Amino acid sequence: MTEQLRRVLVIMAHPDDPEFCCGGTLARWIDEGKEVCYLLATSGDGGSVDAAVVPGQVSRVREAEQRAAADVLGVQEIIFLRHRDGELVADLWLRLQLVRCIRLCRPDIVVTTDPLRFYVGDRRLNHPDHRAVGEAALGAIFPVAGTERFYPELWGTEGLAPHSPQEIYIAEPDEPNCTVDVAAYIEQKVRAIREHKSQLSYPAAQLARARQRTATADGGHSERFRRIVLR
Ligand SMILES: [Zn+2]
Repeated sequence: MTEQLRRVLVIMAHPDDPEFCCGGTLARWIDEGKEVCYLLATSGDGGSVDAAVVPGQVSRVREAEQRAAADVLGVQEIIFLRHRDGELVADLWLRLQLVRCIRLCRPDIVVTTDPLRFYVGDRRLNHPDHRAVGEAALGAIFPVAGTERFYPELWGTEGLAPHSPQEIYIAEPDEPNCTVDVAAYIEQKVRAIREHKSQLSYPAAQLARARQRTATADGGHSERFRRIVLR
């Protein structure tokens, strides 16, 4: 089913999330003819450990890096909502913004992050923005984006008719039910990650870890998802 679907909207919290979470899958889908757009809730202004750098400067750098990384994969368009990094909440305002973008972009597939993931393994906590954007995205998709009685002004005033995607891919979930073979795209993914220069304090180690995250026992690479097919 996924093979026939064409339009993909990736809804995530920060610049670099799409590449790290699922850059191989996005590269593969684009190579297979899908159109991919990004909707990023923040511009990653918290992504600097240098207190002397003001948030606006960080955002500008990170948006530019994100555009360069997206170009490596062949992503068509990026929308930045410019919420403050670290303060994302799955509230009604964020949901309305996501509904507007879903009705505008009319994706067949939405890719987002896992709203249930509080920690990763034994050593790492998940960023709360990743949970918030995942929760807001799922709440926007159902029941709101596809139902005309919600936000009628989006239809009446802005001409944005209801729209429901057919499939949802939750990237890097605790309970995956689907993997995508990205062996042929792992180097393209790494090249895209490499464009997020401000986030790579130790590039060799971080890029090696990115490769390792998707490594399979047979020497290949795959990315994991919770795939939900809406009926
Ligand atoms: Zn992130």
